[in-house]
Amino acid sequence: MKGAMLHGPRDIRLEDRPDPVIVEPTDAIIRLSATCVCGSDLWPYRGIENVTGPAPMGHEYVGIVEEVGSAVTSIRPGQFVIGSFFASDNTCEICRAGYQTSCVHRQPIGAIGTQAEYARIPLADGTLVATPEVPSADLIPSFLAASDVLGTGWFGAVAAEVKSGSTVAVVGDGAVGLLGVLAAAHFGAERIVISSRHPARQQLAREFGATDVIEARGDEFIAQVRDMTRGLGADCAIEAVGTRESMLQAIGSVRPGGHVGYVGVTHAELPGDRLFFSHTHLHGGPAPVRRFLPELIDLISNGTIDPGKVFDLTVPLDHVADGYRAMDERRAIKTLLTLN
Ligand SMILES: [Zn+2]
Repeated sequence: MKGAMLHGPRDIRLEDRPDPVIVEPTDAIIRLSATCVCGSDLWPYRGIENVTGPAPMGHEYVGIVEEVGSAVTSIRPGQFVIGSFFASDNTCEICRAGYQTSCVHRQPIGAIGTQAEYARIPLADGTLVATPEVPSADLIPSFLAASDVLGTGWFGAVAAEVKSGSTVAVVGDGAVGLLGVLAAAHFGAERIVISSRHPARQQLAREFGATDVIEARGDEFIAQVRDMTRGLGADCAIEAVGTRESMLQAIGSVRPGGHVGYVGVTHAELPGDRLFFSHTHLHGGPAPVRRFLPELIDLISNGTIDPGKVFDLTVPLDHVADGYRAMDERRAIKTLLTLN
């Protein structure tokens, strides 16, 4: 099969890789219907995370089940399935509490690499959720978004405890931040303020439910949010970048006792004194997307939400390098990779 491999900074290639086979009786093999490039793929692509030798890439996926292992009971060949970026058994105590990305048996899908024609998905019964029927082509981008960026933005809003009537600050105008806006709107937020200087992203934020766009970051953003909230700060913030600056922007935007849901992969050390005196509730981490998949599949199937709009570039898997480059240069919000 063909699959993407990262050889070093900004050196991604589509290569021949071995066809995946069933290794454990709990595995499934899927044929990808579509896959995509994640903002977090840019960390190794840019060399900010070390790459040791050629590494398979991609952890977002939707596809058709080709084959299942002998111990798989609920997933069947022919189903259209969605899974998250960690395989999980969905039965251990941590999974049952809703934190499938910390499953005691979790396995990272990124190590398997789903920017490829086929993929082996471990713990298929726990990891994969089948749609009621094989969807029409127009719904595939939205289901693919559910595999990571929608589920992650959703968790950002859940972790930030967005409620009906909340004022929410969103830090980050990438796919996750934009879908955090969508989630906050779904949960009934009254005012959703996003930090963005990029016209196309501002436009999509407004389509997803943002009420205010602030073209500033850091202290200037915080000051404007305070002006909107009688000097108190927002009720909640969704942090979707992962830097020290973005975390401090989110923490500074909420009122004492407010909630920050942080879902950007954190590459930052934070000042303990500022955290202590902020009275902020912090909750985040790798989103337990699996928790939300059944609900998200329903909302996409019945047309309530259209998260597939975050894909503003579509290229064939053969052109995976163009897809990375466009995201690296911020010409694309998110690249969808099609398969033949
Ligand atoms: Zn588990």
